[in-house]
Amino acid sequence: MQKKCPKCSASFNVTDEDILLLDKLSPVINSKKHSLPAPTLCFSCRLQRRLAFYNSRSIYPRKCDLTGKNIVSIYSPDKPYKVYERREWYGDNWDPFEYGRDFDFNRPFFDQFKELLDSVPHLSLTVLGETVNSEFTNDNLIVKNCYLIFDGERAEDCMYGHTFVGITSCLDFAAAVDCELCYETIHCNNCYNCKYSRYSTNCSDSWFIRDCIGCKNCFGCANLRQKQYCIFNEQKTKEEYEKYLEQFDSTSYKTVQDMINKTNEFFLKYPVKECRGEQNVDVTGNNLNQSKDSKDCFDCNKVQDCHYCTNCLVGAKDCSDIHIWGDSMELCYESCVIGVKTQNLLGCYYVSQGADNILYSMYCSRSVKNLFGCIGLRHKSNCIFNKQYSAEEYEDLAERIVEHMKKTGEWGEFFPSSISGFGYNETMAQTFFPLEKDDAKKLGYSWSEYQSPVEADRTIDASKLPDSTNDIPDDVLNWAIVCTDTGKPFKIIRKELEFYRDHKLPIPRKHPDQRHYDRFAIKNPYHLWDRSCDKCSKEIKTTYAPERPETIFCEECYLKEVY
Ligand SMILES: [Zn+2]
Ligand SMILES: [Zn+2]
Repeated sequence: MQKKCPKCSASFNVTDEDILLLDKLSPVINSKKHSLPAPTLCFSCRLQRRLAFYNSRSIYPRKCDLTGKNIVSIYSPDKPYKVYERREWYGDNWDPFEYGRDFDFNRPFFDQFKELLDSVPHLSLTVLGETVNSEFTNDNLIVKNCYLIFDGERAEDCMYGHTFVGITSCLDFAAAVDCELCYETIHCNNCYNCKYSRYSTNCSDSWFIRDCIGCKNCFGCANLRQKQYCIFNEQKTKEEYEKYLEQFDSTSYKTVQDMINKTNEFFLKYPVKECRGEQNVDVTGNNLNQSKDSKDCFDCNKVQDCHYCTNCLVGAKDCSDIHIWGDSMELCYESCVIGVKTQNLLGCYYVSQGADNILYSMYCSRSVKNLFGCIGLRHKSNCIFNKQYSAEEYEDLAERIVEHMKKTGEWGEFFPSSISGFGYNETMAQTFFPLEKDDAKKLGYSWSEYQSPVEADRTIDASKLPDSTNDIPDDVLNWAIVCTDTGKPFKIIRKELEFYRDHKLPIPRKHPDQRHYDRFAIKNPYHLWDRSCDKCSKEIKTTYAPERPETIFCEECYLKEVY
């Protein structure tokens, strides 16, 4: 079925497999299957709509509205909501049923959901479990001594990064898994002491590498396998390598910037694989591993029979249109940030831990079952708009609301971006679909102007900093540095300065937000283009747009090239 997206005008195809999966995902209420319609928006617009709710990394100091204590929250102090510190929010000092209400069949569902969302106290941070000395982090599980890292689990002594699993002492990363002592890496797995590197696995003590596996002591190399002492893809002796590294002044900001440009240019000589990933069977997408029979999934591991899923790193089955998470997740549709033994979820945001049969709800967890339009419930079942019903009453009322939503055109759609609690620029939508303020407003998104104050003894333009870290005094910790790109002031913290000194790295000249955007701009978009292999002309689907300068090989040609 060929459709035209009413939002971006792109034409998109809803395939027979999509329809089959939607049938499998259609909720059964009162012993009757309520079919999900084919999506109205294209995949990108659906993803953007979900992401406009997802504030993973904009956090602010503010007060808890229950205790008055100073806390850190994803809600800036100027937001109109009540915000409770997360331990209080999960505690017994308030009752989400107090905000319960009847459903009004004369009004659209989403309008009524927004009123509930505006009244229920909000969770300060989306953090599961206890963190240790990591107040300024969010969207994570089990982190210790970390600062400004987001979306992941298990990290110790890490700063400034997004998406991680099991990392130690890493700084400025995007998508780091099982890495240690890495800096400015993108999509690296099981790497140790790698700097300015991308898409590499099982590598150590290397600089500026791309698509390398099992390498150590390599510099400026691409597509190498099990190599040591290579510089710009040429084999050197140990002595030559060490001599080269000695003359490379990595403490100099200018030297490093020049090297980034040089390596980017050099890498263009080496082909990239149509799609990155290992151990997949019958999949399309990118950055996929150990996955099977899945279509157009990106940054996912262990997904099976899934369509249009993104960032599900810990496994999913029979799901469509999910951004973030997984872990024994089955039969879920049009949801964001859901996981841990969840099944039969539709239109959910931040619903987790044993949730089953949940429709259009947010912030519900811990063995919840049969909820519809609920916010902030734990250990509850058969509730609608935060009101308790009997099992029979639930089935009857839920069925009537579904029929109502079919008439209003809301059934099968995710919440409209207009009811998101965040400015577009505070959410991950800005990372994946960056917009200027005026354009975002024209498209109906809200925009946050709030900025946490930066306290400092003096302000210095980043361009005025001494070139070498060796010449930066300790006093830099008291300075507000003005970002070269955005003019936004930022500070360096002590632990971070020690890292730069220990590893002979330059001090960043850009605000952490801009560094995050820069890394994600290097990551390929969640979009597949039809192209042909630059070697054998076979037709391929790739995240490299046809106009990009890289040479793209099909998997077969790529493997012949690198092995
Ligand atoms: Zn669209
Ligand atoms: Zn080929």
